[in-house]
Amino acid sequence: MAVPYRRKSRSRSRMHRAATMKYQPVGNTTCANCGEPKLTHRVCSVCGYYKNKPVLESVEQD
Ligand SMILES: [Zn+2]
Repeated sequence: MAVPYRRKSRSRSRMHRAATMKYQPVGNTTCANCGEPKLTHRVCSVCGYYKNKPVLESVEQD
């Protein structure tokens, strides 16, 4: 909740910030095809798969 900054000590606002605004890494998942870590909603850079389908032709093996 917004409180006038003089009403809240530096310590308190920092404690609140630490508790609420924890660092969350950008969406990381593992590829369904090869299991390598990848970003969500992005084509896998290792095997070129997206939504269980090969999207990047250059990376296709067969
Ligand atoms: Zn992959």
